[in-house]
Amino acid sequence: MRVVAISGGTGSAKLVRGLAAAGPFSAVANVGDDDRFHGLYVCPDVDTLTYALAGVLDAQRGWGVRGDSFAALEQLKRLGAPGTWFNIGDADMAVHLLRTAMLAEGRSLTEVTAVIASRLGVTGCDILPATDSRVATRVRTREKGELSLQEFWVREGGRPTPEGVRYEGAEAARPTEQVLERLRAAERLVIAPANPITSIMPTLSLDGFRDALRASPARKVAVSPMVGRAAYSGPAARLMEAAGLEPTSEGVARLYGDVIDAIVIDESDRAQAEAIEGLGVSCTVAPTLMRSAEDERRLARVALEA
Ligand code: GDP
Repeated sequence: MRVVAISGGTGSAKLVRGLAAAGPFSAVANVGDDDRFHGLYVCPDVDTLTYALAGVLDAQRGWGVRGDSFAALEQLKRLGAPGTWFNIGDADMAVHLLRTAMLAEGRSLTEVTAVIASRLGVTGCDILPATDSRVATRVRTREKGELSLQEFWVREGGRPTPEGVRYEGAEAARPTEQVLERLRAAERLVIAPANPITSIMPTLSLDGFRDALRASPARKVAVSPMVGRAAYSGPAARLMEAAGLEPTSEGVARLYGDVIDAIVIDESDRAQAEAIEGLGVSCTVAPTLMRSAEDERRLARVALEA
C-alpha cells in the first residue's frame, strides 16, 4: 500500500516511527515553524522526523539528538548572541550548518532534507518538506503582539494569551512536485497526531494543497492529538480555542472534515463518536497514547486499517 503521512514534530514522530515498521512510506513535514538562529536555517519538524527515523531522537525531550552536548550554545551565550533561548545541541547544530550551506549553494530544502536523512541512515521513508517556499506560522497574542511559533512556545514558555494564528506566505507557496506526485499516487493518507493549528494547518493552507488532497484517490485518516478537552502535550487546545474551535477530537474532525474520510479518537472520548459520524467522518475508537514502540506500531496499524 502506498502510504503518505502529513506530519508535525514530536507527536507525529511517534506515529511515523510506527508507520515505518509497517513498510515504506512518505512523510510530508510541516515547515511553518522553520526559523533562523545564529544565521542557521532550522527546521524543527523536519529534523524531529529525521532523528526519529534515524533512531537518534531524544525521546525524553521529544526533539534534538539523544545525548547531545550544548558547548556551542553555551559559548554563544557567553558571547551575548541573540536567540540563545532556542536550545540547539552541538550535533543538531551540525545539521543546521550543513543545511544552511547547501541552501546557500542553491539546493532546495527538499534535496537538502533527503541528503541529511540518507547520511543519518534513514531508509524506507522519504521525508518531504511540504513546500520549498518560506511559510511562517505567526501567533497573535494579547500581551506580546505577534510572535513566531518558537518565540511564543519556547522563548515565552507559551504564557501569552493566543488570539489567532496566521500562516505568512502560505497562499503564495505551492507544495513541491514531489509532494503532489506522492498525493496523486497515495492509497492511504494519514494525518499524524499533531498540533492541528501549528503543525497541520500550515501545510493544508498551502496553495493547492487541499485540492490535491481532495483529488487524491487515497483513503484519508486523521489520528486525533486530543483527549477530552486537552492535548496530550503542548498548546494545541489553547490555539484551537483561539481559532474558534472546540479543543476536542470533534473539533479536530470539523477542522479536517472536508479532506478526511475517517478519524481515530481515544477510547476515553467514545462519547464524541456519534457527533463525529454526524459530520460524515467515519470514527474509529482506540487507545491513542503512544508510550512505547509497541504502542506506536499498534496505533499505526489502526490508522492504516481505519
Ligand atoms: P510539534 O510540532 O513538536 O508541536 O509536534 P506535533 O504537532 O507533531 O505534535 C504535538 C501534538 O501531538 C500535541 O498536540 C499532542 O497532543 C500530540 N501528541 C503527543 N503525543 C501523543 C500521543 O502519544 N498520542 C496522540 N494521539 N497524540 C499525541
